Amino acid sequence: MSKVVKFGGSSVASAAQLKKVVEIIKSDSDRKFVIVSAPGKRDASDTKVTDLLIAYYQTYKAGKSVGEVQDQIVERYAEIARELELDDEIIREIAYSLHELATLDKENRFTYDTFLAAGEDNSAKLVAAFFTKAGLPARYVSPEDAGIFVSEEPSNARLLIESYDQLNYLNELSEIVVIPGFFGVTKKGEVCTFSRGGSDITGSIVAAGVKADLYENFTDVDGIFAVNPKIIENPEAIHEVTFREMRELAYSGFSVLHDEALVPAFRAGISIVIKNTNNPDHPGTRIVLEHSENFAPVVGIASDNGFSTLNLSKYLLNREIGFGRKILLVLEEFGVRFEHMPTGIDDISVIMRDAFLGKETEKLILDKLAETLHPDVLNFEHNLSIVMLVGEGMREHIGVTARAAKALSDSNVNIRMLSQGASEYSIMFVVKSIDEEKAVQALYQTFFW
Ligand code: ASP
Repeated sequence: MSKVVKFGGSSVASAAQLKKVVEIIKSDSDRKFVIVSAPGKRDASDTKVTDLLIAYYQTYKAGKSVGEVQDQIVERYAEIARELELDDEIIREIAYSLHELATLDKENRFTYDTFLAAGEDNSAKLVAAFFTKAGLPARYVSPEDAGIFVSEEPSNARLLIESYDQLNYLNELSEIVVIPGFFGVTKKGEVCTFSRGGSDITGSIVAAGVKADLYENFTDVDGIFAVNPKIIENPEAIHEVTFREMRELAYSGFSVLHDEALVPAFRAGISIVIKNTNNPDHPGTRIVLEHSENFAPVVGIASDNGFSTLNLSKYLLNREIGFGRKILLVLEEFGVRFEHMPTGIDDISVIMRDAFLGKETEKLILDKLAETLHPDVLNFEHNLSIVMLVGEGMREHIGVTARAAKALSDSNVNIRMLSQGASEYSIMFVVKSIDEEKAVQALYQTFFW
């Protein structure tokens, strides 16, 4: 049995947190592979090391003096190392690697990523040194040595599939293996990071590569909440959720796991557990392939605002071939991604994020559609929110939509659109953004109280 364990920024932010981390590893001999983030915030007003590294890069790139920001970053590590009573050697090594960044080629397109990756890289070196000192022989392994090879897409790397075969050799190492999260190397040896929060992705990749039995992701919450805690105070944590449900919950706006981190573990059939470093006895949330027992029809409610719909209506639309394609072609031309597309006999609505729109783009889209499709009704509607009721169990239950719709109508929420995909993993309600909180509260009371 082997487990890959990933610790997020707040879990490695201070000496006190790292003492919890070492106990977590000591308490289970299956925890053999450890992935770490860069030190995160110690309190709400603190700055993440990754953000300090961005400031460092910007100062360097602008040709200004970098001494102050360098000192600030070195001190974040040095303070932890001193409190853990580690050798000065490790502080010197970390300081050297951080200073060296200011000698890199400013024009190289991977330099920014190399700066950012230093946060995780030095964190892993420090953690390995601490584990060894605490009686847990550990070895730092760089992503290059581990074999995490990625595409040449700065700040948005994707794993090259052959990496999985290479990673398997990590099973032969006898020590605890500590790998920095968040980045890999290109075939040319350039450092290239995943998108922000990407240490979660590394953990999932390593779990798939070493064929682990479990991927444990330690954060600072007791798991994934069933609903946004900003809307419902102290909501329930989800005990078990499937990978498919997790995808549907992606609108939640309170996600604790990077979206892309699901895929490697899912494809390898490895469950993920989200756990709390500050409360490790709590079972957390298990993300599984299939539910283990008969589950409640609804596991969670996700919601997000900032949506608009493009509404099109044309008499006898259902007789026209290629109408949908023509609409999507226009959106593609303007670089607009869509989220959902509910249809009626003579209507199509396309739901998209406001981030892709703007007065000018909207006018161009409307003009083009009017010219090519001659619809009877054509407009954009703004200030909309999506509220998703998620649960695979609803497939086997009668009346989930009825209960949800009643809850919304009792709360005086007008449902602008409603769609239940063929998969029946979720029901989507589109409501006016001013009604979003009311809608979520009504649904939570109906399905969780
Ligand atoms: N340190 C990186 C970030 O802040 C990656 C991570 O923590 O997962 O985005």
